Amino acid sequence: MSNDIQKPYDVAIIGGGVTGTALLYVLSRYTNLQKLVLLDKYKELAQVNSHFNNNSQTLHFGDIETNYSLAKAREVKKAASFLAGYAEKYAKDAILLSHKMVLAVGDEEVSELERRYDEFREVFPNLKKIYRDEIFSLEPNVIKGRDLKQKVLALLSEKGYAINYQKIAISFAREALKQEKEIDIFLGRSAISVLRWDDWWKILTPDGEIFAKTIVVAAGPHSLIFAKSLGYGKELGILPVAGSFYKASNFLRGKVYTMQIKKLPFAAIHGDPNVNDPTETRFGPTAKVLPLLERHNWHTLPDFLETSVFTLCGVQSLFKIIIDKTIFWYVVKNLMFDVPWFGKRMFLKDAQKIVPAIKLTDLKYGIGLGGVRPQVVNTKQQKMEMGEAKIIGEGIIFDITPSPGASVCLDNARKNAIELGKFLKNYEFDEKKFLKDHKFEY
Ligand SMILES: Cc1cc2nc3c(=O)[nH]c(=O)nc-3n(C[C@H](O)[C@H](O)[C@H](O)COP(=O)(O)OP(=O)(O)OC[C@H]3O[C@@H](n4cnc5c(N)ncnc54)[C@H](O)[C@@H]3O)c2cc1C
Repeated sequence: MSNDIQKPYDVAIIGGGVTGTALLYVLSRYTNLQKLVLLDKYKELAQVNSHFNNNSQTLHFGDIETNYSLAKAREVKKAASFLAGYAEKYAKDAILLSHKMVLAVGDEEVSELERRYDEFREVFPNLKKIYRDEIFSLEPNVIKGRDLKQKVLALLSEKGYAINYQKIAISFAREALKQEKEIDIFLGRSAISVLRWDDWWKILTPDGEIFAKTIVVAAGPHSLIFAKSLGYGKELGILPVAGSFYKASNFLRGKVYTMQIKKLPFAAIHGDPNVNDPTETRFGPTAKVLPLLERHNWHTLPDFLETSVFTLCGVQSLFKIIIDKTIFWYVVKNLMFDVPWFGKRMFLKDAQKIVPAIKLTDLKYGIGLGGVRPQVVNTKQQKMEMGEAKIIGEGIIFDITPSPGASVCLDNARKNAIELGKFLKNYEFDEKKFLKDHKFEY
């Protein structure tokens, strides 16, 4: 099926996870664009990293994530607030509210968390320091069985959001379709390639061509493949880091994060109630390097090979990253977590840092759970890039979205809506209304 070549779409979005659907929602509602299309290769929206099984289901604000600097936390807080504002209005069924905390165990971690509290309370005035007794009253299983000599401290926020990002994506699409505009959502339709076609873009799909004035590729790590095919992002590669989860019964009432391992971009293991079934506690995610762009999908092995990590520069970069002692042992340990029999025993120690009395028999490996974080590697500078990557080309934008990509999806859509103004004539984006409609005090 082709759209009318004389009347191309204003914007075509490739990818129907939270990033793509958030953009469809923002463009449909806050711009004067009339013709929009979104396509995804799967038959349903949000089947990859935005699926509820595949991520940690956390709306990150930056207060309990000790892998964030203050500047990053400030930025994430602002971005996540838009999504909280949206969910409170339009997708209440996608959220689960509870307290949340980050737990420090032992002298070193406790003094690091004390220092962090002093630095962060300006941005997060509601963050509270709580000690053993208060932790016990909120999360008894975090204290039960813990050595009395072991120092503990937690930073508590009363406002913790567990979030089903798949439901959010579906809700974005539903809200977009309510607008009286020409909006098409093609599911089960893969973008094979993207080409310049006079002043427009042409997307080749198995069911015909799609023409658009501008394109936003929100296809997770696959965005980089499209970018490279058009000569962008040559210096970037993807290191796919899969995250697995273990399941247990009802051990925790809210999210309990642990202190970050320095030098690593990923959040340390945490325990939290499953957003779809709060009587289940999930522990994870682990961090296992895998040669796949999608978890459990070996068809994405060739795609991984296209993302540059297997060039000379890519291999040199990986070597330089992995040679660091902390990273090396972290990678080895995380590879072991998925080894049958042995992995669960190793993981138990990490889970016991959160719930000391948890036993081996309480933990069950979450078969099929966990996505792949597309860790962006700069093969020129031979280092990992922290956070999301956005490549802006001529009339085209590519988004690669590791965590906290889902939390910041609406703000990312806002940024893309601004960028699109540089490519489209007579374009209007009512940012003021967007900000007003998604106002949320955290
Ligand atoms: C283990 C783990 C834990 C995480 N925890 C959190 C968390 O707690 N909070 C948080 O904010 N973030 C978290 N993240 C990150 C978060 O899941 C992602 O940032 C977010 O889901 C990215 O959304 P997306 O729409 O960009 O990508 P995706 O959800 O992966 O969507 C990309 C879409 O593009 C489609 N696509 C790909 N190629 C094509 C093609 N050729 N044609 C058409 N369609 C295509 C795919 O089918 C898919 O639907 C976590 C990630 C992992 C892996």
